[in-house]
Amino acid sequence: MVAIFNPGTLSPAELSRWVYDALGFAGGQVISIPSPQPKPYRAVVLMPEEARTATLRIYAWNITHGGGSERAPDEFRIQLTGRMPVVTEGETTIVLGWSPLFNVFAAWDPQVHAGRHSASPSLQVRQETLVRAHEDGLAAALRESGDVVVAFRAELLTAYCLNADRIHLDPSDEVLAEMRDVVTHEPQSQVLISNRPLVERRLTLAYRAWDFRQRVTGAYEGQCAICGLGLGLIEAAHIVPVAWPESTDATSNGLALCRNHHYAYDSRLISVSSDCTLEISRQRLDALSRIGNYDVRWIEEVDGKPLSLPTHRADWPDPVYLELGRRLRRWVP
Ligand SMILES: [Zn+2]
Repeated sequence: MVAIFNPGTLSPAELSRWVYDALGFAGGQVISIPSPQPKPYRAVVLMPEEARTATLRIYAWNITHGGGSERAPDEFRIQLTGRMPVVTEGETTIVLGWSPLFNVFAAWDPQVHAGRHSASPSLQVRQETLVRAHEDGLAAALRESGDVVVAFRAELLTAYCLNADRIHLDPSDEVLAEMRDVVTHEPQSQVLISNRPLVERRLTLAYRAWDFRQRVTGAYEGQCAICGLGLGLIEAAHIVPVAWPESTDATSNGLALCRNHHYAYDSRLISVSSDCTLEISRQRLDALSRIGNYDVRWIEEVDGKPLSLPTHRADWPDPVYLELGRRLRRWVP
């Protein structure tokens, strides 16, 4: 469902998928831990080169413009709705916002903001910080309340999560440079800053999201391309992740999947080769079984099977997108 008042924002399902996708961009392994609750998203990140592991509890919201005349015009924020962040021993709590406008995340100090109880509190970040992060990859700023907000591009999410404990305490140039070094990436396309393009961009994104879902589920006749489930429970998955700058809403960049297979696909447990054959990730399934006792037979049984394809050849997944999607998700068999 598209949010009416902030049509450029991601739905809760899109946001959680995007967070998991972004965790995967930096390399290493990311295993999402299934949970009956929408928040926090829980994941284990393993960076083999550095022999580092973290269990994450991620609370994420969309970053929107403050709005209203009493708000500073350069103020963006997240509104902490639903579950409030909780800090748990042995896990890393992350308080995160995603800005679809600037294509960056912002993160607030969980030690300061966990366990808040006031009705619908919000956390702010200045536009200037988001713009700097967009341009340089990473930016930190001291807020008026005395805590540090850190903004960064998607490919730095894993680096942030592994350094979150100290980065809010010591946002010195050395610590930021260390984090930035984790991934170097081409600068992204220009952002639109004035209000008019902002509204237009949000409306365009909302229409695109709606249209994409209609076309993709229509092309697959409302059935999961992996298991054939129908019943109106079908979602449209992007092959090249939606928030990636080169992603498109072409039907050939989409797959109609049931919720379980969408989860498995976005968690990189299942992948689709360029000839539309299903593959499973032995490595990730093994890692998942080390974390907990999950029944993974429903994933294993699709290995080597062909994807069910749309009637019209033009709607088939584009092999170029399939390859790019795998590269961005750091697919490991
Ligand atoms: Zn399915």
